[in-house]
Amino acid sequence: MPHDRIAELIAPLRVRPGSKVRLPKDFDPGYTGDLIDKAAGTELLQRGVAMLADFQSRLAAQHTNGLLVVLQALDAAGKDGTIRHVMSGVNPQGVRVHSFKVPSAEELDHDFLWRYATRLPARGEIAIFNRSHYEEVLVVRVHPELLDRQRLPPRARNGSVWRRRFQAINNFERHLTDNGFQIVKLFLNVSKEEQRKRLLARIDRPEKNWKFSAADLHERGFWRRYQQAYADMLTHTSTEHAPWHVIPADHKWFSRIAAAAVIVNALDGINPQYPVLDTQARRELQEVRGALEEG
Ligand code: AMP
Ligand code: MG
Repeated sequence: MPHDRIAELIAPLRVRPGSKVRLPKDFDPGYTGDLIDKAAGTELLQRGVAMLADFQSRLAAQHTNGLLVVLQALDAAGKDGTIRHVMSGVNPQGVRVHSFKVPSAEELDHDFLWRYATRLPARGEIAIFNRSHYEEVLVVRVHPELLDRQRLPPRARNGSVWRRRFQAINNFERHLTDNGFQIVKLFLNVSKEEQRKRLLARIDRPEKNWKFSAADLHERGFWRRYQQAYADMLTHTSTEHAPWHVIPADHKWFSRIAAAAVIVNALDGINPQYPVLDTQARRELQEVRGALEEG
């Protein structure tokens, strides 16, 4: 994917820092840019995947920066498939995927960012958060009883808990980017109708049955509340150092291209390079080479 093409593709998906987001008004889940169908996007995705593999190899070799990819979405929006497709070309040694579920008792005994902090990428690594610290202002906001279980002291609940959390998250991310850890934040935006179709497919297709969970249906009942929580999250946590991109997710083929493009763009910004040896080290390498040639 050429630079210009990537920039053109992802510009409409970026949440401008400071802008107020309304959902579903501001972002169309069915958007596919100037691409008409899957066939039109196949080559683009292949090129994106190949670029990711090359960047990942350089990132590991340079060993200076790390990349955190945050994936947030409602159920059946395609998080798992996006990870599978977009990361299909990269060396598994350089990528770690962490899927965050309902917190354990030990996790609940810590501050709300603790469990995420323990799974951050190291330098040279890419980490993917399949759900993330943002669940702390999404599912926990939609279901206040989850906040009660966190046993916060009264002063942590003063005023707006959510405003405080947005601020804490922005500070946390600022600290990471200042120290060489780039953050890509993707919200896979699926429509209510498309989610309905996908949940039905999980019931109707035996090979998808394992993915169906009655809990998904229960959460679907909170659709409006989730849209509001997502909109507020996008409004308050899309920053210059770690902006959100809203990935239209009703067409899986497009969401994969768009996700790949945003990640490639971030890596391009890091521009990782293979280390180049200095003159002395090169000379030594040539001496070793000479010795090896002689047997
Ligand atoms: P899944 O991603 O489908 O395997 O589901 C994981 C479940 O864990 C979802 O229902 C999330 O809402 C839930 N979950 C993830 N993070 C949290 C959190 N911080 N607090 C409560 N529930 C969470
Ligand atoms: Mg699920």
